[in-house]
Amino acid sequence: MVSRVIPVDNFDLVIFGGTGDLARRKILPGLFRRFLAGQMPADSRVIGAARSDLDDDGYRALIKDAIAEFGGPEKEDAEKLSAFLAQLAYVQIDAMGEGGWGALAKLMRKDVVRAFYFSVGPSLFGALAERLHKHKIADRNSRIVVEKPFGRDLASAQALNETLASHFKETQIYRIDHYLGKETVQNLMAVRFGNVLFEPLWNNHYVDHIEITVAETVGVGGRGAYYDKSGAMRDMVQNHLMQLLCLIAMEPPSRYGPDEVRDEKLKVIRALDPIDAHHIVRGQYDAKGEEPSYREDVDNAKSFTESFIALKCGISNWRWAGVPFYLRTGKKMKSRVSSIDVVFKDLGHTIFEGDHSRHRNILSIRLQPNEGMDLQVTIKEPGPGGMRLIDVPLDMTFADALGDDAEDSADAYERLIMDVIRGNQTLFMRGDEVEAAWAWTDPLIEGWEARNDVPKTYEQGSAGPEDAMALMHRDGRKWREIKG
Ligand code: NAP
Repeated sequence: MVSRVIPVDNFDLVIFGGTGDLARRKILPGLFRRFLAGQMPADSRVIGAARSDLDDDGYRALIKDAIAEFGGPEKEDAEKLSAFLAQLAYVQIDAMGEGGWGALAKLMRKDVVRAFYFSVGPSLFGALAERLHKHKIADRNSRIVVEKPFGRDLASAQALNETLASHFKETQIYRIDHYLGKETVQNLMAVRFGNVLFEPLWNNHYVDHIEITVAETVGVGGRGAYYDKSGAMRDMVQNHLMQLLCLIAMEPPSRYGPDEVRDEKLKVIRALDPIDAHHIVRGQYDAKGEEPSYREDVDNAKSFTESFIALKCGISNWRWAGVPFYLRTGKKMKSRVSSIDVVFKDLGHTIFEGDHSRHRNILSIRLQPNEGMDLQVTIKEPGPGGMRLIDVPLDMTFADALGDDAEDSADAYERLIMDVIRGNQTLFMRGDEVEAAWAWTDPLIEGWEARNDVPKTYEQGSAGPEDAMALMHRDGRKWREIKG
């Protein structure tokens, strides 16, 4: 299969926070891969901006090291790497100060796409938008890319939306959720809406329940102070898990266009039921051997913040009434897995005598590791032993099915950045979506804060607290195993 890489328009991309972790680990190595794939026009420029005292060459050296550390096998191509680095520049700017903006303004070219990536802490988003406007660096066609977290509750998200809206139109604002840039997530839409097979079954007549799991093996790392003010609900559920839920549950949009898709996602969020307290389980990982506990990691012996959450929710509409959605996410868990499992209902009747086992079709969508999908189907066990049934997965691991094309496929960040340059907002969150998501999570958070709920402890390397198991057991169901 031949990859078709279509170069994007010429661009100037300014990365505020260009010296930071995200820029060095994801954004710049990703842009280098797009450069190698021939998608980044030779005349385009990437301009790092931060407070550090660097010149262009100093910035190029920093990014060269970052690509050596975080790039893939392609980082070895020294000649191409030099050509890529030559397209980089640097401007020293303090987002809160006035210095450096004139220099940036002078660098910006007319007649190319101007994009500004806010890869800095959220407290700087407003200041950057204001100064880009004030110094006339952004024009009517410029785009801004805003990282998460987008607010910490409805009020702060509304305030941020208002600040951004006073300088940019909604069509210029790209709120990034890198989960939406994953190949599998887009494939989920292709599978649902590009095949006749699934859509007729995608409802409460045929689906028993849906599980969404995002399990990490890492702890809070160096982000303890930030994480302890946030927790799994704000850090993961309000954005990533809810976005996945929307894509799974939304009605077919009339076309694959930015507003059509986002209108349907918004309807899902608005149809989410409030959740009872006993349908939420929060957890904190315990110490294990030399490994510190969550409370030690965040240096807060009295922390009530959750590093794990499992919840059961429902969607009040014709398609999903009565179908439970079980969501869980946590740190220091058994394996690093992100998956969605659509578990179909049992057969009403079996014609196979003596077969008493429960056979179920399950569509599993794996976001990581090993992106792909498999559909569990029931077949006859091979051999002359009579009509015995077994369940096997029809495996569609993209790397197997698509060969080199899957391996060449862009990582989420690089795909999303190319979408920004192309001006395609389909895979970015709209302001009203973000606000609706906070409007749903705020009362849940306020509820456990008012009750002074203490998270249950769970063993590091496990699937979370026992109570999370009970959440499904009570309904006669069982979580799918977290497999690496
Ligand atoms: P980081 O490593 O702390 O980097 C922050 C960057 O902002 C640095 O380049 C820093 O450079 C710059 N900066 C800080 N204060 C500034 C100021 N007043 N004016 C101009 N530049 C300033 O943070 P990060 O991990 O890259 O995260 C950046 C954003 O992405 C955050 O909103 C974070 O929540 C989000 N995010 C990060 C990740 C990730 O994997 N890292 C994942 C998802 C979302 P100087 O100190 O030189 O100014």
